[in-house]
Amino acid sequence: MRSFAAHWAARTAAAIGLAFLAAGIPAFAQPSAEGITLERPSRLKNLVPAEQLERTAGQQFAQMKRQASEKNALAADDHPQLIRLRVIAKRLMPHIGRWNSKAVNWPWEVQLFGSNAINAFCMPGGKIGFYTGILDRLKLTDDEVAMIMGHEMAHALREHSRERLAKHQLTGIGATVLSSVLGLGEAGRTVMDYGAQLTMLKFSRDDEGEADLIGLDIAARAGFDPRAGITLWRKMSAQSKNTPPQWLSTHPSGNNRIAEIERHLDLVLPLFAQAIGVSIDQLPPDPSL
Ligand SMILES: [Zn+2]
Repeated sequence: MRSFAAHWAARTAAAIGLAFLAAGIPAFAQPSAEGITLERPSRLKNLVPAEQLERTAGQQFAQMKRQASEKNALAADDHPQLIRLRVIAKRLMPHIGRWNSKAVNWPWEVQLFGSNAINAFCMPGGKIGFYTGILDRLKLTDDEVAMIMGHEMAHALREHSRERLAKHQLTGIGATVLSSVLGLGEAGRTVMDYGAQLTMLKFSRDDEGEADLIGLDIAARAGFDPRAGITLWRKMSAQSKNTPPQWLSTHPSGNNRIAEIERHLDLVLPLFAQAIGVSIDQLPPDPSL
């Protein structure tokens, strides 16, 4: 377990060396009363073929699993925490189609990697990875797991990585990552090098805000308490006073993240109430109080 974490940390340090521009394109529209709504995604991402990106991501994920397995750091299918993650994912799945109609046909997969890192990701094409560190060290409730998973899925559904790569192509930054996606990788670089980078693309703050809200929407429709978004972020920032969670290095946030979630609760609490079959004044106690 430990060697896998160390290996992973080394790779992160290498990949984060890439400097990424955060030229955000605001994507928010006014929310409606029917959950969260957003404007059409930017067309910039069309510069990167989705199918190739998803195929590359699938190869990377397979390679990550092989490497973890060799180090005894890939959870078996009967691992209780992996079973738990898959149950949560299964509940979220019916609610992804409204954000990306093609995604209902993606080969979704959830795996658990043994690593002390506080991290989780969802690659383009629906490959979800959680690290044991994020579950154990933050002592996540099911609702909080659903918040993270919904957030990660939202990045994939809105194709934020694809858009990041397209922007890097335009600016000449990240050309290496992109060439690998297009099958033009340099000789000697392994698929894993690029795969690791795919999970380490740093999202913009606009992407983050969007992923937070879509994640809330998906989770609430699946019957997870959206107020867990608040407790999750409190745990994450409390942890960052010791060792900053690796997750935060790829998911930059403004100081107003919790405030933004609170501001949108009125839109998603009715979805939550409906999903669990109660009226809005019969909701369970607020976990954030
Ligand atoms: Zn994020």
